[in-house]
Amino acid sequence: MTVKKIKVVTTVAPITSIVENVAGDKVDVAGIIPEGINSHTFEPIPSDSKLLSGADLIILNGLDLETPTLKLAQANLKQGASIYSLGDKTVKEADYIYDFSFPKVQGHPNPHLWLNPEYAMRFTTLVRDELARVDPKNKTAYEENATKFLKKLETLDQAIKDASVTIPPQNKRLLTYHDSWPYFARRYGFQVIGAVQPSDFADPSPKEVIRLIEQIRKEKVPAVFGSEVFPSPVLEQIAREAKSRYIDKLRDDELPGKPGEPQHSYIGMMVENMTIMFEALGGSTDALKKVDTAPVAGAHADYRRKD
Ligand SMILES: [Zn+2]
Repeated sequence: MTVKKIKVVTTVAPITSIVENVAGDKVDVAGIIPEGINSHTFEPIPSDSKLLSGADLIILNGLDLETPTLKLAQANLKQGASIYSLGDKTVKEADYIYDFSFPKVQGHPNPHLWLNPEYAMRFTTLVRDELARVDPKNKTAYEENATKFLKKLETLDQAIKDASVTIPPQNKRLLTYHDSWPYFARRYGFQVIGAVQPSDFADPSPKEVIRLIEQIRKEKVPAVFGSEVFPSPVLEQIAREAKSRYIDKLRDDELPGKPGEPQHSYIGMMVENMTIMFEALGGSTDALKKVDTAPVAGAHADYRRKD
C-alpha cells in the first residue's frame, strides 16, 4: 500500500532546501521560483496556479519577497490548505533592516533573512512544527530530521565564526552588487558599506557610480562582490577604476551544483559563499572545509532551473 504524501510548494531554492532537509522523503516538495532567476521580480506564470492549487501547504520567506506568488497562491488555495510565511515569525519588525536597495521610504524590508544561519535555524524549527501540524503521522520523522539538520546548521554557524575571525578587522566590510548580506553581516560583525543595485533593480546612475569608486578608494576595500544571478558590468567597471578586486560569484538564492549533488543545498551555498568572500578579504577558510553540506535525509525536492 502506498501512503499518500502531502504536497508542499516553496519559493526560493534555499528555503526549498531547508524544507527538504526536514521533510526527507515524507513530502512532495516543489520550489516554484527557478534557480538562477531574479526572485525579487519573479512572476509566476498562469500554469503555476495548477501547482499551487494542488498544494496542502505553501511555505514562503515573506517580508514582501514573493508578493506575486503569494497573490496567486491565495487565489488558488485548495480547501483546507494553508500558506505559511517564515519571515515574520523569525524577526520582529523592530529588527527588520532597511538599507541601500530596500529603503524605508518604500516600505519593503530587506528580505534576505536566510543568509543568516541563525534565522535558517529558526526557519527549520518553524518548518518542523508546521509539517507536523499538517501531517501528524510523520511527526517523528520531521523531528528527527530537524534535530540532525539543526546540529549541522550549528556546525556551519561555528565554522563561519571561526573563519571570519581570521579576516583582518579592517577588511570586514562588504560592498556588493545585490543587497543580500545585512542580516549575515549583523551576526558575524561585518559592515555593509554599500550595495550598488538600486531599489528598482536597474543600473546605478553615473553619479552614484562615481561616488562608489571614490568610496572604495578612500576606504581601501580589497574586493567588491557581484552575484551569479545579476552579472554586473557596472560593478566590474567600478572595481577596475577603484583598483579593487571584482568577484562575481556570490549567490543568495541559487544553490551550487545540481540537484542530487551534496553541495546543492542551503549549507552548500553558504560554504561556497563564505569560501569566496573570506578568501577575497584575506581570511583563512580552513574552518569551512570540514562542513558537511549534503541534505540530512537525502535529495528529494523538485527544484526548477531557469534554463
Ligand atoms: Zn536576493
